[in-house]
Amino acid sequence: MSRSPYLFSTHDLPRRPGEMREYFVPIEVHDVMGFDILAIATDEPIDIELKLESVSDGVLATANVRSLATGECTRCLDPVEIDIDENFVELYEYSEDPRIVRKREKKMSERAKAKKLEEEELDEEDEIRQMDGEDIDLEGPIRDAIILNLPINPLCTPDCPGLCPECGEKWRDLPDDHAHQVTDIRWAGLEGLELPESE
Ligand SMILES: [Zn+2]
Ligand SMILES: [Zn+2]
Repeated sequence: MSRSPYLFSTHDLPRRPGEMREYFVPIEVHDVMGFDILAIATDEPIDIELKLESVSDGVLATANVRSLATGECTRCLDPVEIDIDENFVELYEYSEDPRIVRKREKKMSERAKAKKLEEEELDEEDEIRQMDGEDIDLEGPIRDAIILNLPINPLCTPDCPGLCPECGEKWRDLPDDHAHQVTDIRWAGLEGLELPESE
């Protein structure tokens, strides 16, 4: 398996609280990120300005994420482009030395073990991220920063009038008095009838 493009080595950052380093991390190739209707294409770079600070129990990552999402207007299907410019702050705790953990677990009573398990579950809920050796995995926070801020119904313009439901032409391209006559006798009786709005 090849290394995830979102893994970043903190090797340069001394593990002394107060130390700080800044990086520019362009992620050139990655999986498509987003939804069917709007996503960052696999070859669209995701540029990360990353600031790492050593704190007492880990590394604090402050990042600005920039990219470009492309998709379709949900009303008229025209192509849309959405600039991504989001920030996140994430704490990565140092992973513990497995040898120390094993030694401590040997000493722990059953009851303490149960309590520790409970705490670990709580930790998972709070999503405390652990470093993997010197690596931090930026994928989760990048994904959250992007996905949670993508519009669910992208529009080419906020006031896009969409398509005429009868002929599928764009209202924008149609004359103001564009209309369709209901000529079919089977439908004539339905005229003026309120149809339940479909979603
Ligand atoms: Zn549109
Ligand atoms: Zn029409």
